[in-house]
Amino acid sequence: MPLEAVLITGELNRRPARAPEFEAESRALVALLKALKEADAHILEEVAKTALSLCRAHTAGISVEEEDHGRKVFRWRVAPGSRVVRLHGINPHEDSPSGMVLDRGTPQLMAHPERHFVKLSENSPPPVEALIVPFDVGGVTVGTVWVIANDETLHFDREDLRLLQSLSECASVICEMLQREAQVQDALARERDGSQLLQAISAGMIRENDVNAVYEQILDAAVSIMRADCAGMQMLDDGQLSLIAWRGFHPDSARFWQSVDVDSATPCGGMLRTGQRFAIADTEHDELLAGTADLDEFRRSGVRAVQSTPLTSRSGQLLGALSTGWHAPHEPTMDECQLFDVLSRLAADLIERAKTDQALREADHRKNEFLAVLGHELRNPLTPLLAGLEVLEGDTNVESIDEIHSMMRRQVSHLMGLVDDLLDLSRITQGKVNLHRTPLDLRVAIDAALEQTKPLIEERKQTLLVEQFERVLPMEGDGERLTQVIANILSNAAKYTDIGGRIHLSSRSERGHAVIRIRDSGIGVPAGQLETIFEMFTQVPEHRARSGGGGLGIGLAISRRLVELHGGSICARSKGLGCGSEFLIRLPLGTSVLRARSGLRHERGAAQRRQRILIIEDNVDVAKALRVLVTSIGHVAQTAQDGPSGIKLLETFTPDVLLLDIGLPGMSGYEVARRVRSMPIGARVLIVAVTGWGQDCDREHARQAGFDHHLTKPIRRDELERALSGVHRAAAADLAS
Ligand code: ADP
Repeated sequence: MPLEAVLITGELNRRPARAPEFEAESRALVALLKALKEADAHILEEVAKTALSLCRAHTAGISVEEEDHGRKVFRWRVAPGSRVVRLHGINPHEDSPSGMVLDRGTPQLMAHPERHFVKLSENSPPPVEALIVPFDVGGVTVGTVWVIANDETLHFDREDLRLLQSLSECASVICEMLQREAQVQDALARERDGSQLLQAISAGMIRENDVNAVYEQILDAAVSIMRADCAGMQMLDDGQLSLIAWRGFHPDSARFWQSVDVDSATPCGGMLRTGQRFAIADTEHDELLAGTADLDEFRRSGVRAVQSTPLTSRSGQLLGALSTGWHAPHEPTMDECQLFDVLSRLAADLIERAKTDQALREADHRKNEFLAVLGHELRNPLTPLLAGLEVLEGDTNVESIDEIHSMMRRQVSHLMGLVDDLLDLSRITQGKVNLHRTPLDLRVAIDAALEQTKPLIEERKQTLLVEQFERVLPMEGDGERLTQVIANILSNAAKYTDIGGRIHLSSRSERGHAVIRIRDSGIGVPAGQLETIFEMFTQVPEHRARSGGGGLGIGLAISRRLVELHGGSICARSKGLGCGSEFLIRLPLGTSVLRARSGLRHERGAAQRRQRILIIEDNVDVAKALRVLVTSIGHVAQTAQDGPSGIKLLETFTPDVLLLDIGLPGMSGYEVARRVRSMPIGARVLIVAVTGWGQDCDREHARQAGFDHHLTKPIRRDELERALSGVHRAAAADLAS
């Protein structure tokens, strides 16, 4: 039967209304107010009971609309009365008289409503009349208060309507109150769950070794706090966010978002651009997302709303992002965001710790590798040296002695190179490298480096092409250090290029800089390693087998530091393994007039003069070796093992030169030098320190004590010759103030 046939609302105005019973009404309302004080879920029942009694109805009730699996239904919250069925049952909106009243928004009276709403006929007896009044909660009509007459003895009138309307206002207030109470309870429960989760995560971070398990916990908490359907956690790496843990997305979407940068239309991109939480409440209505592949991925994963929160370290550095997504349009509440921020701080700590752990593990790994390589490198030259010594001890002819000598010289100089690198390494890591800057011609340093590496290049039968486009390259710098850098790059080029390969060095001036290019046709460097090879202890793993020894993986680190100290830069290029490499050194040029192309050229003394040399050295072997060396050059030598006996010897042996160890027992070399300087002979004797201490402060100490030269052990013959070459002590270069 059509609805209009059962609706008789107009009757309410036509029927004579009974007189109001104010006394009964106010009694009922007072009782209601009392019940309100106790404010529990039964309060609605009181309203219904009041309706039942004031309207003298057979049944009364309150229905509230709610969602059940996506459809709107009415639940009979309370229905006191004699013949109640289906209490707490649900009725779909469209099949329910209350739904109809909600749609119309005004009270309705119906006669035999079961004729239209057939389900009502299940009630026995079926209702004769039903008066239904709607009520609002928070401005939205959500429920009804109703009364039913089950037989013809009762017909509702305007007075019943008035009573029911005032009761519907009570129901409205009560429902609003109950709703608010439920929200508070819900928020409290979630806050409690949230803080329990956060506690579990912080405990997990302390206990858990498996960082991935903690990532999973963070995702759990993210989903729970935000009541989200999916979540992802990203780490910032080189300006890109890379996904490290996720859940709830389609695997293809997770792959698609594996790496996200600042240009992305997703909230992650927005977060990278703004540095703040970025949310999209509805992906289908977002201008930035419209027409992007990201929107397709959101659709594939069924995501309609999404937010991305920055993960910031305690020092304020952006480390990553924590994102959540929802299957329906959604905006998180302020409370949720606040709790989420706490979670984000925990996640940031975790990422920071993971990064530090990783850096430590890598450093430790590199150190262990370095120690292994060092052991190997140091042992290598010792084997031929030992063998050489054994041969020398036996019967040998002159020819093989020459061969053995040159082999031993090669190995010793290799060992010395390693020791020099190690000393440099320790100075560099302690930031103690000082440059001895003078005006110089960089071409001289290049020539010196070429001269140093020529033997290696010749030995490897490589072709060396040198193109120097400028006559001079004037600059301020430390000539020896610059030579060291260029020689390092050149010898690497020789080492990492096959026998018979090509090496090309060019130098030119470009916009105020000297640019030295060293290119080789060698084994090249993989793209991912072009920067790491400049790190301490780093060697390209594929190269290790080929280099044939001779490297500790620190040469380039030292070179870069030295070039940077000169205000320059150094970088490597290569098209990959097998494609050769190119190293580019840029150094700022100076305009100062060159004092010398001599920065590095050491004056060879005029004719060697026979000198009288006193050696004061406590190590008997070193003293003996020095004596053999100086006498082999043609000088006369005497030795003393400590300061006092050396000073005593001065009375009988007037030396031109004193070769003086610094770490002597009793009286230190500094003290001996000071005493000698105070003696008459002190005015003309050349005092040369022969010591293991080569730091700048040691040189300064020596200079103050009156030393002229400072040689670090082991002493090379050419260095010694230079020191003894008859240069007058006033012209001595290396300790001149
Ligand atoms: P090493 O003592 O091992 O040569 P370096 O610091 O000088 O140490 O170089 C670091 C690493 O860089 C080398 O081990 C090698 O793998 C790579 N490398 C350096 N120069 C070259 C080059 N010219 N060609 C190919 N690889 C090179």
